[in-house]
Amino acid sequence: MRITVLAGGIGGARFLRGLRHLMDTTFPGSEITVVGNTGDDIWVHGVRVCPDLDSVMYTLGGGISEERGWGREGETFTVKDELAAYGVEPTWFGLGDKDLATHLVRTQALASGYPLSDVTAALCEHWQPGVRLIPMTDDRAETHVVIDSPDGATDPSGSPLRVAIHFQEWWIRHHAKPPAHEFVLVGVDSSTPAPGVLQAIATADVVVLPPSNPVVSIGTILQVPGIADALRGTTAPVVGVSPIVGGAPVRGMADACLAAIGVETSAEAVGRHYGARSSGGLIDAWLVDTADADAVERLTAVGIRTAATPTLMTSVEETARIAAEALRLVGISDASA
Ligand code: GDP
Ligand code: CA
Repeated sequence: MRITVLAGGIGGARFLRGLRHLMDTTFPGSEITVVGNTGDDIWVHGVRVCPDLDSVMYTLGGGISEERGWGREGETFTVKDELAAYGVEPTWFGLGDKDLATHLVRTQALASGYPLSDVTAALCEHWQPGVRLIPMTDDRAETHVVIDSPDGATDPSGSPLRVAIHFQEWWIRHHAKPPAHEFVLVGVDSSTPAPGVLQAIATADVVVLPPSNPVVSIGTILQVPGIADALRGTTAPVVGVSPIVGGAPVRGMADACLAAIGVETSAEAVGRHYGARSSGGLIDAWLVDTADADAVERLTAVGIRTAATPTLMTSVEETARIAAEALRLVGISDASA
């Protein structure tokens, strides 16, 4: 079976670990292709950092810090501290020493002219994540957040001055506190999907949207020209798992992101936001948490096959069960699928 997953960082990576376990145990010989979000990517101290690709790579490759959920296990931050001692910004970005090796390798390869997709494949040779990991695009398309200037500056009319800051600065430095007026994916209009992305969606047996951030992870991937249309056009069913449980994100600040695009923070609203493929939307089925079971009937009524099950990814085995429930929703329940 061929499964294609559009993934952000922590939520996507944890789900993928369970999905891979399910494939290994129940659907041997399956291939998982991951289209990773690169909207969070940033240049820091001269190196190119791809947080979501690395979260997937480290989580599936066994190098992730389980406690933090991002970066490397047993990490130290000597270089970061030394840079801070020089007073060099950004001091708020958590650049670990082990992690830095990945960014150095990536940056050198990019500087030699290799596209990010080739560089990612090369890094995965080392990490052996057991999935094919492709960035959504080889082009630079970075999420910026439009906020009122944090220093209180005003424009000539006296209204708060609006500034755009890199997503990472909003997320990490400001903890997503300044209300986002808008997310702007700088460069996306002239970007193209990385080699293999559209084929992976078109030729999949099933496409899965894991519980990743619907705005700045999956929403970003869907903005790359051609990807949303590929999802609408594929013969494969598309099933998603809600990242919102009981009206709140399980971790992270997806509520602040959803507010910016005018979507309520609820499993039902996110399901509706993706929309039923039968009426021009992107998903056929949507798995919600038992806490949100009241959404099942209403979403089913609008053409989205919906079921409720516990969706907290508390272990690899439990996550594999969640993945199995998602596949079952689109009629995939054994190796003959
Ligand atoms: P990021 O790029 O590191 O922010 O990670 P993602 O975009 O892949 O995933 C973030 C989303 O995962 C958040 O909106 C969380 O609510 C969601 N999430 C994290 N852990 C769980 C979980 O155990 N269950 C569910 N249903 N969602 C989760
Ligand atoms: Ca991310």
